[in-house]
Amino acid sequence: MVHLGSAVGEFFGLTLRMNRQGAPARSSLPRRWSPSPLLYGSAAVHVTATAATLALPRVLPWALGAFVANHVALAAAGLWPRSQLLGPNWIRLPAQTGGASGVAITIDDGPDPDVTPQVLSQLAAHHAHATFFCVGVRVERYPDLAREIVSRGHDIENHSQRHRHNFSLLGPGGMSAEISRAQDSILRVTGGSPRFFRAPAGLRNPFLDPVLTRLQLRLASWTRRGLDTVNANADAVYRRLANPLQDGDILLLHDGNAACSRAGKPVILEVLPRLLDALASKQLRPVTLRSAL
Ligand SMILES: [Zn+2]
Repeated sequence: MVHLGSAVGEFFGLTLRMNRQGAPARSSLPRRWSPSPLLYGSAAVHVTATAATLALPRVLPWALGAFVANHVALAAAGLWPRSQLLGPNWIRLPAQTGGASGVAITIDDGPDPDVTPQVLSQLAAHHAHATFFCVGVRVERYPDLAREIVSRGHDIENHSQRHRHNFSLLGPGGMSAEISRAQDSILRVTGGSPRFFRAPAGLRNPFLDPVLTRLQLRLASWTRRGLDTVNANADAVYRRLANPLQDGDILLLHDGNAACSRAGKPVILEVLPRLLDALASKQLRPVTLRSAL
């Protein structure tokens, strides 16, 4: 099993390390790739089922059943955005020694020429900073807006180059291309490189973690998401995010692909000021993900 893991590690040009930490840690980069327990188990299933079939051909139906069950488990882990079964995944901010972590507001799918400037104004009015998970092609299309985000003290992180809906079905080469191209686009436009990645819709597969490790990116999902691309009810979106607000939360809203409320306003613009007021009333500090590294 270890031998197979080493072979996979060598395929990705990485050094294998047995010990791993699934929980967010404040350790400094670089980190090395090590398979999660689920991936070790999957390797064991494949080796054992193959060896058993070679030795006893009549166990083939059982071996095929084991393969199918294993792939169903891997697919389920990839369809669960907050899962840590496929590798490290920030679903909360790491604890700070002797102090509060704050709350990270993360804003996906932009920049958007109509919505993002208004989001920036709302954040500025509350002296708050946020993390924008931007799509590479949109950064290239709206470079001044991307630079404005950064100049106001926010962070831009990687949300892939094209936000492909089949991202979670890509192999290691396809995933690497989508993520690397977004890194290049964001660096070229803003002069800074992302340090976090969020998969489109949060969906992924076992190939993602080795790619992120090679690119020295951390996967971030969320504590709660507002579902504000599909839910036009601003009250419901706010309740999903703010119930309850706690130190260390990572919250997800959208400035790109935002649903519009009955008043015709992008939902984020109705929710964000309420959220910032609620954070202030609870003395929770809005922070970027990067500030927690
Ligand atoms: Zn997205």
